[in-house]
Amino acid sequence: MQKVKLPISVDPVKAAQKGLQIESLLPKSLMKRFAESTISIQSDINTAFSFDIDQQKLRIFHGKVSVAVELSCQRCNEPMLYQCEAEFTYCPVHNEEQENNLPDVYEPIYYDQNGEVNLHQIVEDELILSLPQIAKHAIKDCNQSKLVVSFGEIEEEEAQRPNPFDALAQLKRK
Ligand SMILES: [Zn+2]
Repeated sequence: MQKVKLPISVDPVKAAQKGLQIESLLPKSLMKRFAESTISIQSDINTAFSFDIDQQKLRIFHGKVSVAVELSCQRCNEPMLYQCEAEFTYCPVHNEEQENNLPDVYEPIYYDQNGEVNLHQIVEDELILSLPQIAKHAIKDCNQSKLVVSFGEIEEEEAQRPNPFDALAQLKRK
């Protein structure tokens, strides 16, 4: 599929009727909030959106975003590379009643005053959610672990590390 510019907003009803699919490289310079959460963003952001009507006649869209970033390792304070990946399916809603009636597999998103949804904002929100709560090198790559004598300490720390996907799931449920 040819890469095109990702529109800031789309009308998801029209897009679903057309079965619109958009693949794009979103300039990283547009991701200011995300940039603040990282040391650096390594490249422009890979995004793919596809709009569809499901069997219940709900207008939905599916998306994927990915980019590599540099984060600061919380153990040794050195930079580390982290691959951000997120995949999501949204169903646009007009009100709380629609939101409450959505099948669990969809995340609700509100239409704006023009009947559109903001794709750039979704990309940025999803990228921020994909960041680990506590960034750490793998033990073998971490400068700190080369200095630490007590292995017991490291293993304990690893065992307590929260699963980043649990954290993501919790954030999304809020
Ligand atoms: Zn480290």
